[in-house]
Amino acid sequence: MDKFLCMGDDEKKGEKSPVGNRYRKLPIEIEAHRWFKNGDHPLDGTERFTGGEFKGELIEGKVVRYYRAPLVPGTDLCSICIKPMHDHGWIDTLEGGHIVCPGDWIVTGVQGEHYPIKDSIFKETYEEA
Ligand SMILES: [Zn+2]
Repeated sequence: MDKFLCMGDDEKKGEKSPVGNRYRKLPIEIEAHRWFKNGDHPLDGTERFTGGEFKGELIEGKVVRYYRAPLVPGTDLCSICIKPMHDHGWIDTLEGGHIVCPGDWIVTGVQGEHYPIKDSIFKETYEEA
């Protein structure tokens, strides 16, 4: 049996295995904003194009950027939310880039990092503070 113990388990002999024990997330307050379109996140910025084809429209958000995938036509429908891909955003998270569907929440974590959460999961996991 000893050959299955992990490093550091010697001190823990006799203790209950952590596998199967239950834990509850600490009640940490986070900031979150629901995103539907470019510019919806408060840190996205408010600069607008001053000329050209997109004159007057918001410049790409600084937190939620444009979804760009050269091999995916913007008219393709998302397999998750069934909305056109050109309605989607893209966000850099600690684990890499992530697609943002319209209606996702953008959470600002304890390290100032941003990540998207689906509305249904957000509602199950968070309540207003
Ligand atoms: Zn989607």
